[in-house]
Amino acid sequence: MSAELLLEELLVKRSQQKKRTSPLNYKERLFVLTRTHLDYYDGRREKRFRRGSIELSRVRCAEVVKSHGGVIPCPNKYPFQVVHDAVTLYVFAPSNESRSLWVQSLKGEIKDNAVVSTKFHPQFWQEGAWLCCRQVDKLALGCEEYNLFGDISRKPLPLIPGEKRRNERRRPPPPLPPEGGDDGDYDDDDEEEEEEEEEEEEVVIALYDFLGTEPHGLSLVQGGEYVILDKGDVNWYKARNQFSEEGYIPSNYVTEKSSTNLVQFVWFSKQVNRNKAEELLKREDKEGAFMVRASSAPGAYTVSLYAKSAAGEGGGAIKHYHIKETQAPPLQFYLAEKHLFSSIPDLIEYHKHNAAGLVARLRYPVGKQDRSAPSTAGFSYEKWEIDPAELTFMKELGSGQFGVVRLGKWRARRRVAIKAIREGAMSEEDFIEEARVMMRLSHPRLVQLYGVCSQQKPLYIVTEFLELGCLLNFLRQRRGRLGLGSLLSFCLDVSQGMQHLEAHGFIHRDLASRNCLVSSSLVVKVSDFGMTRYVLDDQYTSSSGAKFPVKWSPPEVFNFCKYSSKSDVWAYGVLMWEVFTEGRMPFEQNQNHEVVVMVTKGHRLYRPKMAPPAIYDIMQLSWRERPDDRPPFSQLSQMISDALEADAPPPN
Ligand code: ADP
Repeated sequence: MSAELLLEELLVKRSQQKKRTSPLNYKERLFVLTRTHLDYYDGRREKRFRRGSIELSRVRCAEVVKSHGGVIPCPNKYPFQVVHDAVTLYVFAPSNESRSLWVQSLKGEIKDNAVVSTKFHPQFWQEGAWLCCRQVDKLALGCEEYNLFGDISRKPLPLIPGEKRRNERRRPPPPLPPEGGDDGDYDDDDEEEEEEEEEEEEVVIALYDFLGTEPHGLSLVQGGEYVILDKGDVNWYKARNQFSEEGYIPSNYVTEKSSTNLVQFVWFSKQVNRNKAEELLKREDKEGAFMVRASSAPGAYTVSLYAKSAAGEGGGAIKHYHIKETQAPPLQFYLAEKHLFSSIPDLIEYHKHNAAGLVARLRYPVGKQDRSAPSTAGFSYEKWEIDPAELTFMKELGSGQFGVVRLGKWRARRRVAIKAIREGAMSEEDFIEEARVMMRLSHPRLVQLYGVCSQQKPLYIVTEFLELGCLLNFLRQRRGRLGLGSLLSFCLDVSQGMQHLEAHGFIHRDLASRNCLVSSSLVVKVSDFGMTRYVLDDQYTSSSGAKFPVKWSPPEVFNFCKYSSKSDVWAYGVLMWEVFTEGRMPFEQNQNHEVVVMVTKGHRLYRPKMAPPAIYDIMQLSWRERPDDRPPFSQLSQMISDALEADAPPPN
């Protein structure tokens, strides 16, 4: 009898707010309550249409939600909640009667559950807080007693004498909800069962292997599927594997499983720009090597394809094809006019077998499988203290303001850079305090902070290791050998990293090519963000000091030490200039104090020979006197990305 149908009705469910900022959406679902489950379906009650299934034994609370006149942006205005595990599902019924029936029925089904809550939240969780008590922790204990035997939408119902048998009461649907105000269609005697519902499970696919070494970690196997249980930390999701083991996984190692999500395909590389795509394809040097990447135009995609020249001149030609969309519905995709597909994966599949107008078939996907896994925000969830015994030291990489930097390994496996802080060089306590914030800044264009060894002297700062060292030296060593595409690509990398800092309200304060590092795949990442705040050296921190980066500073910084993301934008313009002069010193002939006078009078760096006028225009925008007149990094990234795409016109 486990599948016995108790209730069935079309209701509306609200999406879970997985991130504070994610928009809420409301979907109509066919809800079905049985003795064991609350299921919901997209349309028909068939397994393939099932979008969620909640085991009633896991339900902790079913209750009305008091909306107190708040706007409910769906046609059904009677919300109720089903809390199970750490999840609250919100469902909207079309009438008070319908809602009461669901809530009471659910309550009846869960009344013997060991997990039933003692307290609950009578109002919504919305935009990162409980509306009832303003607590901002989603898992915060409820603020009101939970009454399993009452319905808070109404006065307590009287017991109905001569109670009906359970099975009779729970007859299957026929069309709910009742019109009018008759809520006496069921009773709330203590025989009644209660049930609750569960949110759609979010399934993700692992893009890389991950070894969960800590007790609360969960390992990932590339291609494996995992259910996400909690997204409370943007960098570390709690997940469950197929063996029902639970633990934390790095969020950037997985992608949503969905037919429209391209990230799960090996041939898709979102972050790869035109220049990098060409480098990767040339490196493979295989006929029909291809990848699909995001175009510079938002929401558009490009297929980059390598074909060995038919004339056999050696080398190969790379073509970039925009994936086009039909203008009239239904939405379809195509590369060549006659071949239309309802999805991009279908289109790729077709062209794997048929060139159909392309220079070659899509024979050989070049993508993630060739690249190493990205950095994680620390080695594990909530772990920033690193045991120095787990570090081994290798060669010296360089030395800077804080001390010597060495290449090392963590747990004999992961290569890291270890900075040993010289005595008296840093205000260490302040830094350690901030390190937790900095660890959470995780982006493919930022040098990742993995953690610190703070229980010893010297203090160690452990970060991601980048094979090719600092950008300034890299540029100088390769003078005359870097093309326009590569230079633009470096600038775009930095701008994207800075965009992430800007979005998080984090100011770099010392952006310059000497503070960027280059990976073996020629990706540039921003390093040392915010670190000047911990330097104990007047020559460096005072704007009149010899080491102060005057040549990278706008007037409001060298006059008033007024730092902002817009002062970072100024420094970024100077960094672009360094890139396009292949590592020259800005204002080479001038001392810092002279530069202050020159810049104050409106003088700016000249146009580097390698910078086309349109690129120099971008530099000049970043050197506008008024901070508000300088473009944000999001706009700079777009302009550079457009310039990169325009570097060579697409063939189709
Ligand atoms: P500081 O912050 O003490 O001024 P830097 O960060 O400038 O030190 O590091 C000094 C040098 O060490 C850099 O110029 C670079 O060559 C090398 N280095 C620093 N961090 C790394 C890293 N993560 N990967 C590779 N090389 C690094």
